[in-house]
Amino acid sequence: MVAAMESKVDYILGERVPEPATPIEIAEGILWIRLPMPMALDHINLYLLDDGDSWALIDTGLGDPVSMGTWETLLATHLAGRPIRRVIGTHFHPDHVGLAGWLLDKTGAEFWMSQIEWLSARQAYLDIEDGSSALMQRFYHQVGLGQGEIDTYRELGNDYRSMVTPIPATYNRVTDATVFKIGGRTWVPLFGSGHSPDHVALYCPEDKILLGGDMLLPRITPIIAVWWQEPDGDPLAGYLEFLGTLGHVADDVLVLPAHNRPYRELRIRVTDLVDHHGERLDVTFDACAKPATGQEVMKALFTRELDAFQTRFAIGETVAHINNLLHKGALQRNLDENGQFRYERAA
Ligand SMILES: [Zn+2]
Repeated sequence: MVAAMESKVDYILGERVPEPATPIEIAEGILWIRLPMPMALDHINLYLLDDGDSWALIDTGLGDPVSMGTWETLLATHLAGRPIRRVIGTHFHPDHVGLAGWLLDKTGAEFWMSQIEWLSARQAYLDIEDGSSALMQRFYHQVGLGQGEIDTYRELGNDYRSMVTPIPATYNRVTDATVFKIGGRTWVPLFGSGHSPDHVALYCPEDKILLGGDMLLPRITPIIAVWWQEPDGDPLAGYLEFLGTLGHVADDVLVLPAHNRPYRELRIRVTDLVDHHGERLDVTFDACAKPATGQEVMKALFTRELDAFQTRFAIGETVAHINNLLHKGALQRNLDENGQFRYERAA
């Protein structure tokens, strides 16, 4: 998460947030859990849904000892002796499903994800091929990063593995036809790409509640980035398409996001997110007035100092905006004599 871009939304509890092992009932039968994380984005929100004799859990937290310790307390104290029967993962990122394997071992719960997200989690967890590193390094070279950053990423290797417990080897698939009945409520999945390949948000039309995962955060923009595995992809088109599918969602819906705080005024947020990416596309296009490397475009989009880790997100977001313009035919690219892409306005 690189860009901070807060909207004038209505935070229903103001500044109030739950302590890690003390959930807040944010709506009837829905507990808001907030786990700390040891990174710039310093927390994740999970939601426990009361299902009568059991619970359903939305996302799990990172697979790290602090999150496990908090979960030990939650399992022993706040679940009123009732088991977690279903764990639903919104998408494959480590803060969302990092503890799925561990929690399933402890609880025997079912694990639900979209097929593509589950496959992505499994492949990210299992990818330790040597050849992957060479392709990763080529991608970051082609978009203009220096050897220092590339060496850092090479040494890091598969850091997904270090942030998760084993991704469950079996799962239940969330499809278009899936309807979750949890407690008295009916939840339907809203699929979308851009932040991840097939993210699942859950919407309850009767009570007008939306479990938004990472797609509709109120204060930071979800990372919309190109990664080395799909260097020519256009995730921004997918994300903007998703934002365009929310017309049927109630204007006064309560959004329960995976980061920041629960809010109303989804329409304002969607408009701001669309405008934000429109402005970023303009900056990207302007930065390519003369043939530019990806890194040069990144410096136009991200003016503050970035360390190697922040750079990995920033260059990914930069290439997402570049690729969107390439796909639309507004930009073109050529490999220069150093094997780096030069992006410029299409002739
Ligand atoms: Zn995410």
